[in-house]
Amino acid sequence: MKVHNFYAGPSVLPESAIQETKNALDNFANTGISLMSISHRSKEFVAVAEEGERLFKELLDIPDGYRVLFLGGGASSQFMMVPYNFMNKKAAYLNTGTWANKAQKEANFFGEVVEVASSKDSLYNYIPKGYNVPTDADYFHITTNNTIYGTEIKQDMDCKIPLIADMSSDIFSRPVDVSKYDLIYGGAQKNFAPSGVTFVIVKESALGRVERAIPTMLDYRTHVKADSMFNTPPVVPIFTGVQTLKWIKALGGVDAMNKINVAKANLLYDEIDRNKMFVPTINDVNDRSIMNICFVMSPEYKELEQDFMAFATEKGMIGIKGHRSVGGFRASTYNALPKESVEALVAAMKEFESKK
Ligand SMILES: *Cc1c(COP(=O)(O)O)cnc(C)c1O
Repeated sequence: MKVHNFYAGPSVLPESAIQETKNALDNFANTGISLMSISHRSKEFVAVAEEGERLFKELLDIPDGYRVLFLGGGASSQFMMVPYNFMNKKAAYLNTGTWANKAQKEANFFGEVVEVASSKDSLYNYIPKGYNVPTDADYFHITTNNTIYGTEIKQDMDCKIPLIADMSSDIFSRPVDVSKYDLIYGGAQKNFAPSGVTFVIVKESALGRVERAIPTMLDYRTHVKADSMFNTPPVVPIFTGVQTLKWIKALGGVDAMNKINVAKANLLYDEIDRNKMFVPTINDVNDRSIMNICFVMSPEYKELEQDFMAFATEKGMIGIKGHRSVGGFRASTYNALPKESVEALVAAMKEFESKK
């Protein structure tokens, strides 16, 4: 049976990226050595890492003066590295979900944290608007896509102070005006590569402005200077990530990717809105994520939640159970999820409705 992978992360990757990785695990770049066993300083792997930075820059149209780093530690380590490197006294955070909140919590170790707005009181089902960002804060941190709750900030905002974004779950899903950010980071395992590598896009001139001493491994300048090879980087996930970037490029880049993603998301949201058995958890259409689509049973069909789960599972849907803090269902429709998978889910929803 064909399976449809809606997992939120680790999650679906392009078939070609998986295939190329399999081949390289046998024989990497005709070296006769497995990708697992090659030195990260071999010319063959250095070429892969360089291609990774080059493709990041090309696909996201990253201006001069920025570097792309491939680190370990996950997005969660960035929650601490960001304030370590950017916060002198005060930082501003937008609390739009579990991950945003975790990022904010880490900043408390380094100084005063201003929560400019929060949607926590209504289970994070909207993106706050009309807030003020204090101009004396060292930076403003946002989470562009809230993986658990299914809201997304889809436009790059203007900000008077340095803007820093966690783009773990929507990187490469749309064009980004990188010039508006001092730093963008994310864990790989949502839209880029297997878990194990963390990407960081950083404006070089923004570094070195804090007074505190920074331990070597936690200082972005260490990794800038060493081209992400100060210590051993996650070789295998970086390789797979580069294959993902090649796949995006071949499809026409992030503009093309965005069109496909919007079409997939609309297909599913339209069905959730139409089908009497389901309701969306995010009502403001502008705030709806195109990457993580959350929905629950309509109140009158609440007791059928397990039935639908079993029905969809039988039809090959994997990973549609909503996060425990939201309940219901979450379909993650990342870049590599084929449109056919969304169509299959929509068909299952229609069939389930027609049977009741
Ligand atoms: C998954 C996720 C994280 C956590 O990433 P790790 O790599 O597991 O630390 C952080 N932020 C967002 C938005 C996420 O989706």
